[in-house]
Amino acid sequence: MNQPILECKNICFSYHNLNGETRALTDISFQVDRGEFVAIVGPSGCGKSTLLSIIAGLLEPESGEIILSEQEKNRIGYMLQQDHLLEWRTIWKNILLGPEISKTMTKEKEQLAIKLLSDYGLLKFKDKKPSELSGGMKQRAALIRTMVMEPGLLLLDEPFSALDYQSRLMVSADIGNIIRNSGITAILITHDLSEAISLADRILVLKRRPATIKRDIPVHLTLPEASPLGARNAPEFQELFSLLWKEISDEYQGEQ
Ligand code: ADP
Ligand code: MG
Repeated sequence: MNQPILECKNICFSYHNLNGETRALTDISFQVDRGEFVAIVGPSGCGKSTLLSIIAGLLEPESGEIILSEQEKNRIGYMLQQDHLLEWRTIWKNILLGPEISKTMTKEKEQLAIKLLSDYGLLKFKDKKPSELSGGMKQRAALIRTMVMEPGLLLLDEPFSALDYQSRLMVSADIGNIIRNSGITAILITHDLSEAISLADRILVLKRRPATIKRDIPVHLTLPEASPLGARNAPEFQELFSLLWKEISDEYQGEQ
């Protein structure tokens, strides 16, 4: 830790279209250390996805700078709300899409894929088509597809929000554990405050659009058991939840 792998420096961004300009981000600065799990929360439409796209290099900031450590530069994994699995391919063929496209398929990649399938309880589904799996399983398959590329930095944009509440709790706990155990650095966007508290080391709260960072809150939970579901019983949980709730609802209050 304490070695930044990502620095966002004074990021500003606006969308331009026929209706004019929409300013989405203004002066966003923060850094993420290696191995950290950072959650970003903020009012709907404030610019969270835009920020993640800029970090991923999919959008150019209007001004400001994204600095990624050498090691992580070309090793960003991106996981979205929709699993985007290809229905005409088996789970096996879906999770090996990355190495296939980038022509980096090796025996080791195949072994890694087998290991991940087995770790995530999907090995016996490897020859099934996506539609034969539950929502949670498909999201796990999407995570395997991302992890097979051995990302140095994992960007997650509301990856659980398409799931029903029950699956969401299970899958987020599940995926949270996987990410934590792998020691991978992750940035999670979520509108679920409990999810942010139970998974992250730190929570950035964004102001409404144009977004800027309002709070940077460290999460230190004394856990009865070190699991994302157990975290919800930590004594500090409620206090953090109330604090986040207030920060976010103040943003909606300010809306004209
Ligand atoms: P969030 O992920 O926090 O809900 P987004 O980053 O998706 O917010 O969007 C931020 C703002 O930018 C929103 O007001 C949205 O309407 C606007 N926006 C997003 N994409 C575009 C686009 N392609 N063109 C114009 N405006 C956009
Ligand atoms: Mg979004």
